[in-house]
Amino acid sequence: QAKEKGRNGIIIFDNSFAKNIDDQQMLEQDLRYALKNDPQQIVLYFQPKVDPTNDKIIGAEALVRWHHPKKGVLSPAHFIELAESTGLILPLGEIVLRKSMEQVKRWEGTVFENLILAVNLSGRQFQDKNLEPLLRSLVDEYKIDPGKIELEITELTSMTMVHHTINVLHRIRSIGYKIAIDDFGTGYSSLAYLRDFPISTIKIDRSFIMNIEEEQKSITIVKLIIGMSRTLEFTVVAEGVETIRQKELLKSYGVDLIQGYFYNKPLPLKEFEEYVLKTN
Ligand code: C2E
Ligand code: MG
Ligand code: MG
Ligand code: MG
Repeated sequence: QAKEKGRNGIIIFDNSFAKNIDDQQMLEQDLRYALKNDPQQIVLYFQPKVDPTNDKIIGAEALVRWHHPKKGVLSPAHFIELAESTGLILPLGEIVLRKSMEQVKRWEGTVFENLILAVNLSGRQFQDKNLEPLLRSLVDEYKIDPGKIELEITELTSMTMVHHTINVLHRIRSIGYKIAIDDFGTGYSSLAYLRDFPISTIKIDRSFIMNIEEEQKSITIVKLIIGMSRTLEFTVVAEGVETIRQKELLKSYGVDLIQGYFYNKPLPLKEFEEYVLKTN
């Protein structure tokens, strides 16, 4: 875990900064400044999603990094929670969406044009009334095929919001975006999602994948999720695949796509493109 609650409830990061409220407030100010005045500090990395039957890359997940002027490259563990608790996740999320769409646009007419780009949405963004209008206007603004973008959603909403959620999802889907359930099998993910939500993809959480080499229960659960996804005609992705043995097992179970360090970690744009060029 990147962080833990200290005795007095203060959030502590294990890499020696943001140890106290002052540090948190400074980080918040820095983030606020970056979002408003220097959005270049917000950078997307790309982790390939690979078809294990032929090792071809069919797309990528965009994972946000913050190139902090003093602290260097920060991963989401250092600032997503802060962004959520301060509301900055809304402007941050919009920047991530815009950068993703810009990328899809730039890939048009190149060897990269068939790649599907997955973008993470936080629950907070999902509860924002402006999300659907924003997603609609971004398609017009960037003139891209929304089917090239897959929105990854975890922890969709509280149970009292289920009807609202279903409605929003249907409207987002009708614009043409794909929708994936991230970290499936953990947290609030539920079988009812599979019935009621217009989703295209299920991502099996890494906590199941990391045990399939030695633990029968995880194998059973993973096979069940894959079988169910195939019957319901969802694309099924295994996340956090690190070893060739895991890859081979998942391939034999019929998983559609694999994402994980076994193929590659999240890469800066240029490295990702080079990797696609030499692999596909
Ligand atoms: P996620 O969406 O489940 O993304 C997968 C995370 O697992 C990524 O961490 C990725 O680097 C890591 N990962 C991938 N393959 C492996 C593997 O084989 N082994 C291990 N140990 N880890 C692997 P990352 O980039 O640090 O992102 C962490 C989380 O932060 C993401 O989890 C997502 O929930 C959130 N996040 C990332 N980018 C965004 C964003 O733009 N917006 C929002 N709202 N959340 C984001
Ligand atoms: Mg994700
Ligand atoms: Mg995930
Ligand atoms: Mg996960």
